[in-house]
Amino acid sequence: MTPLEEKMPAKLQRLPELAYNLWWSWNPEARNLFKRLDLTLWRSTQHNPVQMLHEIKTERLEAAANDAAFLRRYNQVLIRVDQEMSNGHSWFYTTYPELTGKTIAYFSAEFGLHNSLPIYSGGLGILSGDHAKEASDLGLPLVCVGFMYPQGYFRQRIPTHGWQEAVYQQLDMSMAPIAPVLGAHGHPLMISVPIGGRHVFARAWKVQVGRTSLYLMDTDVDENNPWERELSARLYSGDNEMRIRQEIMLGIGGVRLLRKLGYEPDVWHMNEGHSAFLVLELIREKVQMGMRFTEAAAAVQQQTIFTTHTPVPAGHDTFPFHMVEHYFANFWDEMGINREQFLSLGEHQEPWGIAFNMTVLALRMSGMANGVSKLHGQVSREMWHEVWLDKSAEEVPITSVTNGVHVPTWISSEMSDEFDKYLGPEWRERQDDPAIWARVKDMPAEDLWNVHLEMKRKLIHFLRERLRAQWIAGTADPLQVLVNGRLLDPYALTIGFARRFATYKRATLIFKDLERLRRILLDTHRPVQIVFAGKAHPADDPGKRLIQEVYNLAKNNQLGGRVAFLEDYDMHMARYLTQGVDVWLNTPRRPREASGTSGMKASLNGIPNLSILDGWWAEGYNGANGWAIGSEKVYEDPNAQDWADANSIYDLLEEEIVPLFYQRDRDDIPRGWIEVMREAIRTNTPQFSMQRMVKEYTTKLYVPALEASLLEKAGDY
Ligand SMILES: *Cc1c(COP(=O)(O)O)cnc(C)c1O
Repeated sequence: MTPLEEKMPAKLQRLPELAYNLWWSWNPEARNLFKRLDLTLWRSTQHNPVQMLHEIKTERLEAAANDAAFLRRYNQVLIRVDQEMSNGHSWFYTTYPELTGKTIAYFSAEFGLHNSLPIYSGGLGILSGDHAKEASDLGLPLVCVGFMYPQGYFRQRIPTHGWQEAVYQQLDMSMAPIAPVLGAHGHPLMISVPIGGRHVFARAWKVQVGRTSLYLMDTDVDENNPWERELSARLYSGDNEMRIRQEIMLGIGGVRLLRKLGYEPDVWHMNEGHSAFLVLELIREKVQMGMRFTEAAAAVQQQTIFTTHTPVPAGHDTFPFHMVEHYFANFWDEMGINREQFLSLGEHQEPWGIAFNMTVLALRMSGMANGVSKLHGQVSREMWHEVWLDKSAEEVPITSVTNGVHVPTWISSEMSDEFDKYLGPEWRERQDDPAIWARVKDMPAEDLWNVHLEMKRKLIHFLRERLRAQWIAGTADPLQVLVNGRLLDPYALTIGFARRFATYKRATLIFKDLERLRRILLDTHRPVQIVFAGKAHPADDPGKRLIQEVYNLAKNNQLGGRVAFLEDYDMHMARYLTQGVDVWLNTPRRPREASGTSGMKASLNGIPNLSILDGWWAEGYNGANGWAIGSEKVYEDPNAQDWADANSIYDLLEEEIVPLFYQRDRDDIPRGWIEVMREAIRTNTPQFSMQRMVKEYTTKLYVPALEASLLEKAGDY
C-alpha cells in the first residue's frame, strides 16, 4: 500500500486511485466529490486532488467516511469510472470492431492536461492533452509518449519595469498525478539511448488520463552524468545542442520505452516534428531484422502520421549537418545507409545554409501528413512543395484536420449544468452533433445571461484573490496591484486577450491609434476594458518587448486602469478568462495562426470572438456568431495591414460591439447580445469540439493506416 492508501479510511480506499486518474478533471461528479471533501483545500491547491489527499486532516477523512450523502456520491463516481475504464461500449470499438487489439502511439513534446502537471507551454501542449482525454472518451486505443520536465515550463514574474522574468521551480513529484513505472524487482524501469558516444538513461512516469496512458521520460537518474540529468529538466530551454539531444531521447528513446513496456503499435502519430527521429529507430529495427533500407522505409511510411503545426519558418527545428553527423555517425550503419543517404532524409535549404530539418524528415518518412486548419493545410502544401517536386502544389499530400478543444475540460460547470438542463444530458456523448446544439434556442435568455454574469464575477474574484495573496506575500508593489486588474469593473464590457506572446500574434495591435482607443475605453456610460495575459518564450526578446509595452500601457494613467496585464498565464487562469470575459480578441498576422484554440474555448462558453479571419476562425465565423476583423485581403506592407486591421477593430467596437452590449431591456438584459452568444455556442461548439477532431483523425488518418497494417499482417501468412 502507498502512504496515501494507508491514510484512507476503509470506506474511502479508492480515493487515491480517483485522484491519480485525471479523468476526475473533466467529470463534474468527480470534481464535485473532491470539492465536497474539502472546499478550502480544493481552492488552496488550485484543484489538485493528489495534493489535497496528502494535506487533508484525518478527521476530515473520517467525517467524510461517516457521511452517508458523501459515500453515496463516492460510490456513484466509482461506478461511473469503472464503466468508463472498461471499453466495450465505446465509439471506437462499436464503429470499428475489426480493429480491436490495435494500438496507436502518439508522441508530443508537451502535454497540457492539468495545472498540477506543468509540462506544457501553450497551444501545442493543450492540443495533445485534449487529444488524450478525447481518445479516452471515444475508446480510441491511444498510448502517449512525452517528457517529464521536473522544472516544467517557467513561471512568469513581471517586475514594475515590465520585463518578464522566468522563474523555474522544482516540481514536487509526490504532489503531481504521476506514478513511477517499475520494472523487474520493483526498480524503476529504465531505457537507454546512445547520445554523443554515451548511453543516456531515462526512467518513466505514468499519467492515467481516463483510459489513455501517457508515459513521460525523465533523465534525472543516478546513472547519468550531470548534463544528462539536466536533459529533460525544462521544456524548450537551452541551445540547439540540448534540443537535438532531447529530440533523440523523445523519438528514439520513446520507441524503446514502448517496446520495453510491451507495446507493439500499429500506427505512430508524430504531433509536430520534435519526435521525428522516431522514424529512424523504426527503420533501424527493421533493418536489424533483415530488411533492406528501402523496404524498411516503405513499411515505416505506411505506419506513420505527421501533424505540422506552424507556417512560421522559425517554428521548425533544424540542425546543422555537423551536429547531426556527430550524433548519428554510427546509427546510419545500423539503418543500412551511408552518410549522404542519411543526411538527404532531412536536407533542406535554410536562409543560413543547408541543414537537417525535422519537418522535412517527418514529411518524407510519414505516409500521411496534415495541417491544423483548412487554410493552414493550403499554406503548408505551398510551403513544403519542394519535398514533392514531381507534384504541383495542390497535389502535395498534406491534408488538414482542423483543431478542436475538449469540451468537458473547457466548459464551466455552471454552463455545463445549463446544457444538462436544456440540451439533455446526452450532449456529452454527442458533442459533435449539430442537432444537439440547435436546442440552444430553447435556453431562456435570462438563464444564459445569468450564467455569464456569474462567470464574470468569478473571474474578477479570482483576480482579486490572487492580488491579495501577492500583496500579503509582499511580492506585489502598489503599481502592480493596479496593473494586475484592481481597477477592473464588473459591469464594463470586458475584452480578453491571452496567449503566448509571439510577435505574429500582434498583442499590441489594438493600441495602434491610442487616442481612438482611449475614447472607446473611457466612455463614461459605456466603458470598455481589456485584460491581457501570456508568456513570451524565454529566448524571445521581441515577444518580451510586447509584454513590456502592454504592461506600460496598463500603468499609463491616461488609460484609466481600463487595461490590465495578468502575470503567469496557465491553464488554470485560461479557464477563468475563457469563461468570464465578454469578448475574445485575436489579432494574428494572417495566415500565421495555424489554427488557434483559445477562441474555441471562449465560444463554447458563450463568449463571442472578435478575430482576424485566420486559422479556425476563417472556418468558424458565419456573420452572426461573433465578428471578423478586416477582410481576407493581405497587404504587401505590414504597417498598412496593421492600420487596416486596427481601424477595423475600432469600427466594429464603436458601431456594433459596444452598442449591442449596452442595449438593455427593462430587466437590464442585452437581448441582441445574447443572440450572438447563443449563435457562438450553437455553431462553434460541435464543429470545434475535440470529439469532431479525434473522429476526423480516426476516419481520415488512423483507420486507413490501421487497415493497411491488417492487410500487411494477412500478407504474412
Ligand atoms: C488554450 C491555451 C493556449 C492556446 O491559445 P491560442 O489562442 O490558441 O494561442 C495557450 N495557453 C494556454 C494556457 C491555453 O489554455
